[in-house]
Amino acid sequence: MPARAMYCYTCDSDEQHRSLTATEKTWLRGRTGRRSVDEFFMCEAPECRNVRSGFNKHPFDPVIRVPLPD
Ligand SMILES: [Zn+2]
Repeated sequence: MPARAMYCYTCDSDEQHRSLTATEKTWLRGRTGRRSVDEFFMCEAPECRNVRSGFNKHPFDPVIRVPLPD
């Protein structure tokens, strides 16, 4: 899926976001307890990696950031 520009709550600006990889989705399901996490995107700004959904710029409080891969 191509990156898309959306507002990032933690950057406080419009940034490129991408959908999560399979590994990241598995991680986020465990992190949130949600069954489906397909609606979430990750901010691609350097060192941000904040998670938002397509409709909600601030779905988690405190915010959730996708960890860097090992
Ligand atoms: Zn961001």
